[in-house]
This record gives sequence, structure tokens and C-alpha cells, in this order.
Amino acid sequence: MAQPNPPFELSERRRLRSDTIGDAMDRAIDVRHHIGGDWLDSAGGRTYPKTDPWTGALFAEVAAGDAEDALAAVTAADAAFPAWSDSLPIERQQVLLRAADALDRRRDEVRGLLAAETGCGVHFAEVQLDFCVNLLRQAAALAYAPAGQVLPSDLAGTRALAIRRPVGVVAAIAPWNASLVLAGRAVVAPIATGNTVVLKPSEEAPYTGGAFWAALLSEAGLPAGVLNVVTHAPGEAGAVAEALIADPRVRRISFTGSTVTGRRIAETAGRHLKRAVLQLGGHNPLLVLADAPLDRAVDAAIYGAFVHSGQTCMCARRIIVDRALFDDFAVRFVARAAALPVGDPTDPATVVGPVVNEWALSLLERRVREAVDQGARLLTGGVPAGRCFPPTVLADVPPTSELAFDETFGPVVLLEACDGAEDALRRANATDFGLTAGIITGDPYRGLDLACRLRAGIVHVNDQPVNDQPQMPFGGVKDSGAGRFGIGFAAEEFTEVQWVSARQEPRRYPF
Ligand code: NAD
Repeated sequence: MAQPNPPFELSERRRLRSDTIGDAMDRAIDVRHHIGGDWLDSAGGRTYPKTDPWTGALFAEVAAGDAEDALAAVTAADAAFPAWSDSLPIERQQVLLRAADALDRRRDEVRGLLAAETGCGVHFAEVQLDFCVNLLRQAAALAYAPAGQVLPSDLAGTRALAIRRPVGVVAAIAPWNASLVLAGRAVVAPIATGNTVVLKPSEEAPYTGGAFWAALLSEAGLPAGVLNVVTHAPGEAGAVAEALIADPRVRRISFTGSTVTGRRIAETAGRHLKRAVLQLGGHNPLLVLADAPLDRAVDAAIYGAFVHSGQTCMCARRIIVDRALFDDFAVRFVARAAALPVGDPTDPATVVGPVVNEWALSLLERRVREAVDQGARLLTGGVPAGRCFPPTVLADVPPTSELAFDETFGPVVLLEACDGAEDALRRANATDFGLTAGIITGDPYRGLDLACRLRAGIVHVNDQPVNDQPQMPFGGVKDSGAGRFGIGFAAEEFTEVQWVSARQEPRRYPF
């Protein structure tokens, strides 16, 4: 086993050794690449500043890598693959269990880091921590999952096996928004099934969505080279991703992010004949049927639309309400939305925190303004408040406006009236996306029937769309992606089935 790196020591200049939120937020971190077990500066020597979305203070000085760093990481991952893919399941299991315990012990610190790096509030930080601790514990059992089948053969004297083998080096490209979960989900199952990984985090979450995982797993005893992390400056993701995907040693791509970027990744992967798991954007409907209990529907809609400031791929973007309930629903929903606390993400009372960067804030403002110019009714919100965008509700949004057909990543939600369950279903399916959906109804059996007719990868009856657990098959259809995450499904995505047969006696051939 390689020597684990010292716990969380990413910097010789400024060290993060905090056990409290205050400490973690008071210090900037040096985030370097993690390649072959070493913490390295970029080959080109460049760095970029990552700031706190709420305070604007420097959060981290980050290695600004390029294709050269990406290829060095692939070399390290490729070198580590033979030993790791051959490692005993107990070795893999123990690394993952130790990492789970370490993460569980560092919850306060990680909450602070998530807030300072991505503006993540206290509730959603807990959601992320629970998920990741559970993910590591469940993945520990994956190391012992059956690795194949014995198949009956019509050739006498032949034993045939279908053996699941790790694919090799996995390139994992992750977004910023639920940084801990989405980087963790991208690396933990591939590692548990014997692969090695190069993780490319988002420029907005190089630490909690990148270097942190390398530090955590190294501390838990993961051998050098099994997980490598390469960071890059804003606007430079394309070259790093292209280098990773094109390298023949990389055998699988795992991408989570927007549909626009996912399409590019899929095109590049296709050119190199590589399979890619694509977890993309959503325009998720929440259906409120005529028999829905109103209070329950409003509670679900408020959570589904505004949890994590509307910055999860699963958030409810359209609330389709039966006309019989529409006016009552709208009055209650808008009043609740307008009263949600907005501001400092470290305040446990805050529901809507800062938007991740200026660009995202101005996109929200522009899209809402354009929808209103085209005739939408703005029921609350719509104007930035400092670094935050307040909960925003619109109705009568014309189908031509970007809000109506594209994912708008923030606390903005559209209300739409429908005439009966079939109309709700038709409206819900009238989108290019197909990630998640929710149906609120007094009749769960009818809800189940509708769920089976919704073209979405995930549907929850009598719940809103934001739900995830490590063992569930998570993924979308249509423009929301292809492939499934989820511990039990990861073997499908990150292993190759090999048909192996063996004969005792020589075979008789016809010529
Ligand atoms: P993004 O697409 O901007 O970035 C995702 C990743 O792709 C980042 O690592 C980024 O650096 C990289 N990237 C950006 N441009 C690239 C390029 N030209 N070539 C290669 N890589 C590039 O997404 P984001 O803003 O970080 O995250 C939010 C998006 O992710 C939303 O659309 C959200 O719905 C989606 N998302 C989906 C899921 C899911 O499971 N379906 C989960 C979380 C987020």
C-alpha cells in the first residue's frame, strides 16, 4: 500500500487544519493537482483564484492545469490499474469504510467548506454529507459483489463464464452544484469495482468536488494513482476534457453537468468510440392533480423548487396544477416563496443563498426579464438581491421564452394550469428533458399509472422530484442523459463483461 498523504494537507504555504466552520472559512486553501499520490503544481505553473460566492473573499488558489497535466494523471491512473484491479476486496472495502468514518467525523468542517466554495446552505450540506457517508459504506460492499456468472454451453466439455472486469481508467467530469455528492458519485463506485480514475472537477468546486476526495481517500489508505485530480482555470475545461477523452488509456467517461456540455462530451466520446455515462440537466415537472391535498402539495412544491437555492438538477422547474386548485395553490405557494429567508448560506435559517457566480446571476435576471417582456406574469422575486436571486415565481410563461423550454439553474419556477390528469401528463411530457418528476394526488394508484407514462428517468408519487439515495438507479432519459448511477447499477456502467470459456479435452474441428 502506498503511504497515505498527510490528512488534508494541501498546502505548504497555508494549511487547512480546521475542525470548525469558522477556521475553514477563514483560510484560503492551495488546491493542487493530485497525481500519482503527489500534490503538484500545474506543468505551466499557473493558478487561478476561486472566491466565496457569498463573501467574495478568496477561498482557494487553484492549480490551472492543461492537457499536459491531464495526460500525467492518466499515466498515473494507468500505472495504478493492474495492482488496484487485482487488489483483494477486503483492501478496497477497508479504504472505503475508513473514508466513510473520516468524512462522518469532519462534518462541521465540510459544511463550512461547501458554503465557502459553492454557497451551499446548512440543510443541503447535511443532505450531501449523509449521501456521501452512506455512498462510501454501500460501495464498501460492492467490492464483494459477485463478479460474474457460469453459463450453460452447447459445446460438450466446455465451461463458460461471464466475468465482470473493471474497464481500466475512468475519466470523471463533475459539476459544481452538489460538489461533494457528484464528485463522490463519479469516483467511489468506479474505484470500488477496481478501476482507477482521473477526476476533473468544475472550476467552481475544485476543492469539495475534487481535491477533497483525493485527500479523504488517500488518508483512508487508497494507493497512489488510483484517484487523480486535475483542476483548470475557468473557460479551459474543453482542452482538459478533450485530452482525457482522446487518450486511448481512458476506457470510460463519466460526465455530470449541463446538457449543452454533455452533448459536446458525447460527440467527443463517440469520435473515440468510448462509452459515456451522461447525467445532464432537467426541466422537471411537479404535477398537482385535482384530488391533491393542497397543504401537502404546497409544502412539496416549496421544497422541490427552492431546496439548495434551486441549484440541483432535480429541482421542480414547472408546477403543473389542476385548474380546480390553481388559484388557491398559487396564492399559498407565492406567499410561502416570498417569505423564504434569503442570504448567508452559513445561517441555518437561510433557504436561498448566493448564486454561484455573476454570470449565473445575470442569466437568471435576463431570462426572467425576457419572459416578462414576452407576457409572463411575475408573481414574486425576479430582481437580484446582492449576490442572491430571491425565490421567483412566474405564471403564463410563453412557450417561446427560454424559461419555458430550457433549464434555468436557480430559484425560479413556473406555474402552469392544466385541465385534468391527462392534460397534466401531456404538458409534463412536452419537453426535451426527462430527468425527474413528482405527482401529488389523493390516489397513489392513479399516480403510479401516470408515473409509468411519464417520460422521465425518475418519478416520485406524492413527493417532489428532489430525492437521491446511493443505491437508487439515478439518471435521465431524452436530453437528460443516458446511463445510471447507483451502487447496484454502477457495475453495469464501470465494468466490462468478458466471455471466457475453458475445455479440458481438445475440440474436434470439421477441417
Ligand atoms: P457544466 O456543464 O457547465 O459543467 C460540468 C462540467 O463540465 C464541469 O467540470 C465543467 O468544467 C465541464 N465543462 C464545461 N465546459 C466544458 C467543455 N466545453 N468541454 C468539456 N467539459 C466542460 O455544468 P455546471 O454548471 O457545473 O452544473 C450544473 C448543470 O449540471 C445543470 O445543468 C444540472 O442540471 C446538471 N447536473 C446534472 C445532474 C444529474 O445527475 N443529471 C446532477 C447535477 C447537475
